[in-house]
Amino acid sequence: MKVPFLDLKPQHQAIRTEVLAALAATYDATRFCLGKDVEDFEKAFSATLGFPRTLGMNSGTSPLHIASLCGGFGPGDEVITTPFTFASSCWGISYVGATPVFVDIDPDTWCISPEAIARAITPKTKGIVVVHIFGQPARMDEIMALAKQHKLFVVEDCAQAVGACYKGAPVGSIGDCGTFSFYPTKNLGGCGEGGAFVSKHAAVMDQAQLLRVHGSPKRYTHTEVGFNFRMDGFQGAILNIKLKQLAGWTARRRAIAAMYRAGLKRTDVQLPVVPMYGESVWHQFTLLHPKRDDLRAHLDKNGVGTEIIYPGPMHRQPCYASLGYAAGSLPVAEKTSATCVSLPLFPELTDEQVDHVIQSVNAF
Ligand SMILES: *Cc1c(COP(=O)(O)O)cnc(C)c1O
Repeated sequence: MKVPFLDLKPQHQAIRTEVLAALAATYDATRFCLGKDVEDFEKAFSATLGFPRTLGMNSGTSPLHIASLCGGFGPGDEVITTPFTFASSCWGISYVGATPVFVDIDPDTWCISPEAIARAITPKTKGIVVVHIFGQPARMDEIMALAKQHKLFVVEDCAQAVGACYKGAPVGSIGDCGTFSFYPTKNLGGCGEGGAFVSKHAAVMDQAQLLRVHGSPKRYTHTEVGFNFRMDGFQGAILNIKLKQLAGWTARRRAIAAMYRAGLKRTDVQLPVVPMYGESVWHQFTLLHPKRDDLRAHLDKNGVGTEIIYPGPMHRQPCYASLGYAAGSLPVAEKTSATCVSLPLFPELTDEQVDHVIQSVNAF
């Protein structure tokens, strides 16, 4: 039996007719940049997930850039973040000339450790970029308490966690702002690039809206040096259709994760810990194994696709060599990177495929 790590085709075939009809309507109306489809999506996203307002953007990286500007980060400022993430979580910090300060992660959830944040705060610290990695919410109460005490601006990178909750609140609504990605492989993926920005502060939303389109409150008046971070009309139309399915897809991801958790019996494997405070949306199902390369080769022979996400933590990437983090400086992140392997997890997997993955891991 073959179990691909990820196959986007079944999901897109199932909604093909509806999507192509919507695209035709957008095409005929020439609503190519922002416009009604994007506005409809922004309203539906806010209502479905529980945000006062949403700004659609052209990627998940652009809202992280805007978040740094809204937080007032700049040269000389330190912004604390996690090394165990996709690179662009850190890009927003670097784009504005601030310095990312990498701290270690919790060994059980693989999200940033609040205790490690507390140890890294200096008079130069301006903010924190939290990542809800693999769909698992980070420990926001402890993080927000530190932020309040030290007057720090908190960005939640929710690219992998759309629909996840922390103590009943949607991720993205707890910090000062939240960012999302609709890259095709994400839990809510477009057919191309896309992202979104949310904030509980109306003034932050207004500033982000201004920056999204050329810092321009009025045509040909530019009150700030802005960007072109507009979402395409086509992506808005597609995401509108896909958003209606998100709850069902998330429920299926949770069911598959529960099957993995119940079925994986090895004592040499560390499974993701599910904390009491939150509800993961299982962007990845990742486990740790001391011989993960051998495990991967075994799974490959059994027709099971896997990925290593992420093989190199950000504090050890060549682009941040000048920051001077030695090997072993953030041991939990480094050990997690060295031993992690992600199993197939997407809503269209059949129970038989999930069972085959479980049997294959157990037989290693
Ligand atoms: C995907 C991702 C992003 C960036 O999103 P793009 O849409 O690819 O720009 C940012 N942060 C994390 C954690 C991601 O997984």
